[in-house]
Amino acid sequence: MRDPNPRRNLIVQACRALAVALAGVALALAGCASTGDSPAQAARQPKNIIIMFADGATSTQWDFGRYSSKVLRNQPFVTTDVVFKEGSLGLLSTHPSDAYVVDSAAAGSAMSTGHKVNNAAVAVTPDGKEVSTVMEVAKAKGKRIGLVTTATVYDATPAAFSLHALSRRDSQGLVDQYLALEPDVLMGGGSDYFLPAGTSGGKRKDGKDIIAAFRAKGYQIARNTAELKAATGTRLLGLFAEEDMDFELDRDPAREPTTAEMAAAALRVLSRNSPNGFVLLVENENTDTAGHANDAASLMHALWAFDDAVRVALEFQRRTPGTLVIITGDHETGGFSPTYAQKDLSSLSSKNRFYTGDEQLRMLGRITMSLNQVKEELGKKPSGQVLDKLLAEHFPGFRLDPDLRELILNQKTLERNFTYLPQNLLGLMVARQTGYYWGTSGHTPEPAVVGATGPGEELFRGYQDNTDFGKHLHRLISGR
Ligand SMILES: [Zn+2]
Repeated sequence: MRDPNPRRNLIVQACRALAVALAGVALALAGCASTGDSPAQAARQPKNIIIMFADGATSTQWDFGRYSSKVLRNQPFVTTDVVFKEGSLGLLSTHPSDAYVVDSAAAGSAMSTGHKVNNAAVAVTPDGKEVSTVMEVAKAKGKRIGLVTTATVYDATPAAFSLHALSRRDSQGLVDQYLALEPDVLMGGGSDYFLPAGTSGGKRKDGKDIIAAFRAKGYQIARNTAELKAATGTRLLGLFAEEDMDFELDRDPAREPTTAEMAAAALRVLSRNSPNGFVLLVENENTDTAGHANDAASLMHALWAFDDAVRVALEFQRRTPGTLVIITGDHETGGFSPTYAQKDLSSLSSKNRFYTGDEQLRMLGRITMSLNQVKEELGKKPSGQVLDKLLAEHFPGFRLDPDLRELILNQKTLERNFTYLPQNLLGLMVARQTGYYWGTSGHTPEPAVVGATGPGEELFRGYQDNTDFGKHLHRLISGR
């Protein structure tokens, strides 16, 4: 029967025409997929991918980097001011399979494999399946691969981007897997699990010397900054500390290179003999470690060190078209909360309040020792005398209130989510005078931020899950 409404008839016809057209587009797309990459796909497939990774850093940390860099360094923070502003920007939800709050192993695994795993697992799903990591996929595609970190090279993030383990604590097993995987560049701390127990700084239980094993496979070995700068080969193992590398505030520049120096060396090595390009992960772990310690000054310097390395990556990208640079982190650490607060508790009126600003930031800028180093200097039984001397020398202008001093000397915590002693208490000393407060010594579920610039960058736009990040990387590497 004919529809008596002619207007409705017109709409039905238009819809049918649209459906036919859409079917045509779908067929055309299917055709592209079966006959290889379309020109558009090929154009957005990068030859090189550089993942710049600040562990524990999300939006508050990034903004603190921007603000402090402008005020104290008088220079732009390229992470926010260039990549986030001009590239593609997205957020990632971070929860693991078994909780709401994530650890670095589960977050890194999701971002590397596209699969959710339990906290502490390294690219192994809850049902025990080893799922392909970004570096495995890249290697299978004939790309060169590199991993750089300020943590131990077997720490959660670099491990999750390349290896597999039921527990991130299997340090010796992870190092063995690196030797089998043969990343073209492997750099950071953690020489302890490359050397046998009984030798200086060695912890391996099987008596093996894995540094010698890498050398036998044709790797150049760098153990300090000068050796790193002199490295000219096509494969490089750089181990600059027995455990984690130092905070910027405590770093000996002759012994340990900066994140930027490591990034530059990695790019130099990886871009040699590289017809299929490379995938490089550069991680600054100190942004996370500072968060656990509630150490705002160390966080600031770690963010600047990271941003200097981003400059190196962007400079490489300018010289090397076809390079995708991605900036991200895995989760937030510390519940970092720059805020306003009462100057003291004599009055709760707003007249007795300060809003943190340049003056308080300059106080942070005058701190010359990390809170982790203060712990080292204090030793197992903190003495009031040593504490006062350290604070006078390295924390000019700060006063330690009696309640915090007593807790530090008695090695007691204030709350059960502040477990890093005495760092969290000293962090509170800094917070009371500067407004740089913290909510925890652990992680929080604040979404991770992704900024991307270069071919394929648009995939990372919008609000996604951390598994989507991994899926995009796999697609960009394999061209599917
Ligand atoms: Zn952490």
